[in-house]
Amino acid sequence: MKWTVRPKVVLLAILFSVFVFAFSYFSYLQRYNQRMYRWNIETERISRLVYEMTKEKESSRGIEHLVEQNDFVHYQTKHFDIYCQNGDLAQYLNDKIEKVYESITKSLGYASVDLEYRMGQRIKIVIFKDVETYREKTESPFPWSIGNAVYVTNSFYSYEGPHLKGLVPHELTHLLFYRFLGGRYDLGAMRWLSEGVAMYGESSVYNKFINEVLAPRLDMARRGEHISIRELIKAKDLQQEDLKRIHLWYAECLSIVSFMIEQEGKEKFKEFCLVFSQDRNINNALGKVYPDEFHNVYKLEAEWLRYLKDNRQKW
Ligand SMILES: [Zn+2]
Repeated sequence: MKWTVRPKVVLLAILFSVFVFAFSYFSYLQRYNQRMYRWNIETERISRLVYEMTKEKESSRGIEHLVEQNDFVHYQTKHFDIYCQNGDLAQYLNDKIEKVYESITKSLGYASVDLEYRMGQRIKIVIFKDVETYREKTESPFPWSIGNAVYVTNSFYSYEGPHLKGLVPHELTHLLFYRFLGGRYDLGAMRWLSEGVAMYGESSVYNKFINEVLAPRLDMARRGEHISIRELIKAKDLQQEDLKRIHLWYAECLSIVSFMIEQEGKEKFKEFCLVFSQDRNINNALGKVYPDEFHNVYKLEAEWLRYLKDNRQKW
C-alpha cells in the first residue's frame, strides 16, 4: 500500500504523542518513587525519635548516679557535659571539645539539622581518674576496655591517659553517627560502616594510630590479600581474629569510607548511610545511591582497589 503524505504525518504525530506520554509518565513515576522514598526515611526517623525519647526517660538513671558518688568537676559547653575527676583535664576538654566536634561534623558534612535527633541533649563525657575506677564504676565486662560509648544514655566513659587523644574523637563520632541515623543502630549489620565512619571522624582530629598502625596494613590489600567487602560486612565478632587481621579490618573500613566520600562527596555518602541503615542490603543501597558509579558490591570493591593501588589514599 502506498502512503500519501497525510497518513504518514498522522502516524508520526501519533507515535510522537505516544512517546511523549510514555516519557512523561515514566519520569513522573520515577519522581514519585523518589519522593515516597525520602518521605519514608523521614517518617521512620521521626517515629524512632519519639520511641527513643520515651526509652531515654525510662533509662535516664545512668550518668547522675555515677558522678554523684565521686568528686567530679563539671563543665558545660554547647554540645557537651564534661565530668572529670581531674580538674585540669576538665578544663582542657572544656577548651578543646567544641573544636573536636566541629572537625568531626565538618569532615562528615553533618549540618546541625542532620543531628536533630535528641536535639538539646548534650553528649555526656565522663572521665575517671584511673582505669581501676573506670572499670569498677562502669562495671565493664571487658578487661581490655579503655572506653565505652553508650548510645541509649548519649554518653561516653573512659579514664585519664594518652589514649584519650584518639579515643575521644572516635567515640564521639560513633555517638554522632547514631544521632545522624535517627537513633537506629543495628550493631551487627552496621558495624563495618560505623567503624569506618568513626575512624574517619577520628582521622580529622588525630591520626597517629591511623598513620602508624592502620595505613601499613593496606599494603596487604594492595597485594591482593584484602578482606573482601562481603566478608568485611559479615564480621560481627572480631575477638577470634589475630591482631594483624583486626587492624586490616579497621584499615579497610576506613579506606572504603574515605574512598566513597572523596570520590562521590559527603552528601551521597550521607544518603548511602541512611539507606543502608534502613535496608541493610548493601547492593540495594549502592544501586539506589550510586547507580552509575558503583551499583553493587563487586563494582565498589573493584573501584576501591583501583583507588588503593593507584595510591590515591590520603592518609
Ligand atoms: Zn569504634
